[in-house]
Amino acid sequence: MSNVPDVRLNSGASFPQLGFGVFQIDPQDTAKTVRTAFEIGYRHVDTAQMYGNEAEVGEAIANSGLSRDQLFVTTKCNNSNHGYDDAQRALDESLSKLGLEYVDLYLIHWPLPGKDLYVDTWKGFEQAAKDGKARSIGVSNFTTHHLDRLAQETGTTPAVNQIELHPHLQQPEMRSYDQQHGIATEAWSPIGQGKGVIDEDRIAAVAKGHGKTPAQVTLRWHIQLGNVIFPKSVTDYRIRENFEIFDFELTDEEMSAIGALDQGKRLGPDPDEFDR
Ligand code: NAD
Repeated sequence: MSNVPDVRLNSGASFPQLGFGVFQIDPQDTAKTVRTAFEIGYRHVDTAQMYGNEAEVGEAIANSGLSRDQLFVTTKCNNSNHGYDDAQRALDESLSKLGLEYVDLYLIHWPLPGKDLYVDTWKGFEQAAKDGKARSIGVSNFTTHHLDRLAQETGTTPAVNQIELHPHLQQPEMRSYDQQHGIATEAWSPIGQGKGVIDEDRIAAVAKGHGKTPAQVTLRWHIQLGNVIFPKSVTDYRIRENFEIFDFELTDEEMSAIGALDQGKRLGPDPDEFDR
């Protein structure tokens, strides 16, 4: 049905390289929007306790007519739920809201170095995986030293690290660290939240050459780099547009032209400073 490539995780599971993100989708619009995404062909959804719309994602799943094994569902442990027990209790709450017996991927949303509980949280994640409540476990917004510490103090390498990544913040060090350690890199805000990145003249020129939009070219750039992406939109034609990125290919020159746009510029907080 779709030509989205699969990415294999170090847990042995595979998942679609392109999914659908639901950050900042109003709960009252979420079920309808996720249903549209499923109709278009998306089979991977990225939500979080923090987004307040897990129940509505669950509603879309329940009404999708798709079997559980056709879908890949990610949620994230909220910052208020760090700690061995709290992380597991939070997953139980998420599963209840989603109406699922397991999630495909459970992530620590932020490392929160000031709280210094991410190692205990990760041990709770290892237990949740043993209990079959999370098929794969991973992290988000971790930097190399947070990952080094998990490697030193625990027994499981995260399956993914979900980080802010787009042409204005290309994170070459994090990407190569992840690659060396068998961790899949997921790129959040892949089109820079729809402003700035996709207004770049160079991206517009590449898009024109392929008869595609700047958003499609930016998403295609991620795919060719090997990043896992889940752009967000509540607009039907854009949800479709963001899915239609497998019928063209960027040349090496075009990849390099986009590669030259890195400004090391974050849209979100610095994970070493964010503690809330
Ligand atoms: P994004 O880069 O996906 O941009 C989304 C915005 O871009 C939309 O709100 C819309 O305004 C615009 N847009 C979407 N499609 C477009 C198109 N085809 N043409 C023009 N404009 C378009 O940003 P995002 O939502 O921040 O990131 C995607 C997903 O990443 C989120 O939904 C969430 O699942 C995840 N995320 C995770 C974290 C984290 O800390 N782990 C943080 C932010 C986002």
